[in-house]
Amino acid sequence: MNEESRRKIRVWTALLVLVLGGVVLFAFRDSRPETRYYRHQGYVFGTYYNIRYEAAEDLEERILQRLDEFDASLSTFNPHSTISVLNQGRDTVWDAYFSAMYATAQEVNNLSHGAFDITVAPLVNAWGFGFTNRETVTPELIDSLRKVKNVLDASAIAKGQACDVIAELLRDNGSDNYLVDIGGEVVLHGHNDQGEPWRVGITKPEDDTTGQKAEIQEVIASTDLCMATSGNYRQFYYENGIRRSHTIDPRTGYPVNHNLLSATIVATSCMRADALATACMVLGADSAMMLIESLPDTECYLICAGEKEAASLIVIRSKGFHF
Ligand code: ADP
Ligand code: MG
Repeated sequence: MNEESRRKIRVWTALLVLVLGGVVLFAFRDSRPETRYYRHQGYVFGTYYNIRYEAAEDLEERILQRLDEFDASLSTFNPHSTISVLNQGRDTVWDAYFSAMYATAQEVNNLSHGAFDITVAPLVNAWGFGFTNRETVTPELIDSLRKVKNVLDASAIAKGQACDVIAELLRDNGSDNYLVDIGGEVVLHGHNDQGEPWRVGITKPEDDTTGQKAEIQEVIASTDLCMATSGNYRQFYYENGIRRSHTIDPRTGYPVNHNLLSATIVATSCMRADALATACMVLGADSAMMLIESLPDTECYLICAGEKEAASLIVIRSKGFHF
């Protein structure tokens, strides 16, 4: 082959590579599916959900199916769920949701020295905040119920876990931008449909058993967050002038009664944040802050009742709570 033929081959090869490259690029651009933002709202686990995400297709059916699967594992209101069957004293296979819940519940139980305890179920029920009718509470009843350790209540951890589960489903379906809010527990990632970081509010803790009032105390903007809030301002009643709230101190058997009104936790998973938020409500502001400051990648925002003026609030943040 002479020099001229070699040159021609090189030119033709270069042209071919360019054309093929163009075709591949074009095909790739065209094969990328169109995405849009979806929003689904409804009721689950006795509370609301609000799920927003960017995806190439509507994932509502898959989300509802996942929530059903979750309910069939951890809902104490579903008599056939894994947790209910266990509570009825019948043998059952631990499913993956139950096992994950149990492991984190144990961990937070240890970290909080028993303040968080899913075996608190019989006490929650007796005080009228559980899945059976309220009972007439006497010190003797409390003592006997504190010894019952084989009835479990995952209410203080399951909503957060459900947020993690739905976020995972969205990620697995190619979504990078989503916000999952189940009853105030939140997992979010990326940006909203305006291309801005997602914004979520921390509710002002005002007495409100209707759950309708929701004045915002503080707005958090973020592109990557797992956050849960526990409060004593929605689930409570008065009995002979004494306020009884739904956070029970397992160490005494009585509802807690201190000036911490709500605890918002940011953690590495929403399941962990949810359990820690309840633990903090049991511990009270000082011990709660000590616990949270001792944990890596975990922050808190505590709202306490002020002492001087009625209805005044005091906010305490952990050192790394900057959002
Ligand atoms: P919310 O998000 O509704 O404010 P939490 O996450 O704090 O609530 O969960 C409150 C529920 O947790 C109670 O209604 C009760 O079922 C259960 N619970 C109460 N006290 C404890 C406790 N010390 N440890 C674990 N679960 C608890
Ligand atoms: Mg909780």
